[in-house]
Amino acid sequence: MVLAQLGGSISRALQQMSNATVIDEKVLNECLNEITRALLQSDVQFKLVRDMQTNIKKIVNLEDLAAGHNKRKIIQQAVFNELCKMLDAGKPSFTPKKGKPSVVMFVGLQGSGKTTTCTKYAYYHQKKGWKPALVCADTFRAGAFDQLKQNATKAKIPFYGSYMESDPVKIAVDGVERFKKENCDLIIVDTSGRHKQEAALFEEMRQVSEATKPDLVIFVMDSSIGQAAFDQAQAFKQSVAVGAVIVTKMDGHAKGGGALSAVAATKSPVIFIGTGEHMDEFEVFDVKPFVSRLLG
Ligand code: GDP
Repeated sequence: MVLAQLGGSISRALQQMSNATVIDEKVLNECLNEITRALLQSDVQFKLVRDMQTNIKKIVNLEDLAAGHNKRKIIQQAVFNELCKMLDAGKPSFTPKKGKPSVVMFVGLQGSGKTTTCTKYAYYHQKKGWKPALVCADTFRAGAFDQLKQNATKAKIPFYGSYMESDPVKIAVDGVERFKKENCDLIIVDTSGRHKQEAALFEEMRQVSEATKPDLVIFVMDSSIGQAAFDQAQAFKQSVAVGAVIVTKMDGHAKGGGALSAVAATKSPVIFIGTGEHMDEFEVFDVKPFVSRLLG
């Protein structure tokens, strides 16, 4: 279910409830069930939805509702707050500082949009006056280096990689060292992906991470993976110290639910979303506007 539809369903559920003359537990339950269905169809993990439902029931006081307060507003506010809470990782992610060298490592499954997102992230910061650089430590996917090279060249961002070297750890270390010497302040390391979560991928990720000691590890997740989001995000988090999430492909058939699951699984905030294939189709993620959009 796309975001707008989800927002529509929730708004409809709230509207139906506010049309009811008596707001009793049955009406509130019906409303919450409707909202639950909408969130599930948007791929929010079942457990998260169930927890939200329980919390709302605790928060919303039926007597207040009966007393003629604006029922719709009370419920809507409670739903809004709960969804915001789900997207709140509790602490901000490490934020690189301009002028001070930081290493940011990107991880994610193949096809998630990792390489594209590395360039978007670099380009976003470059426009703000940073000196980013890209390192291609993906030696697994044929063509990964060419793709990064092409993107980096287009954006006039320095890059490092190798056609000959097959050890991703060596490439990552050499690239990071080189760009530190060149006074780059944002050194972005693109790592290999795999079609699925595999031990070999996680081992490689761990080694690259150990060798380059990134200040931040960003997990890139395709928003269309549906209910698999929680498990996938958790698997990455268990292997490497994920500190932030970027959700890609939020354009088109994008679903909002995966973002909530990724936050819950990694205890890390979503920092950006990808909204298209182009370099500048990239937005800072902001919880409140996102939830407002979700609620329609
Ligand atoms: P990787 O294997 O994870 O490095 O994935 P790529 O960066 O090669 O991206 C896989 C495909 O997804 C490419 O065709 C990208 O153009 C596309 N892609 C990446 N991010 C987005 C996005 O935010 N929106 C859309 N529509 N496509 C994206």
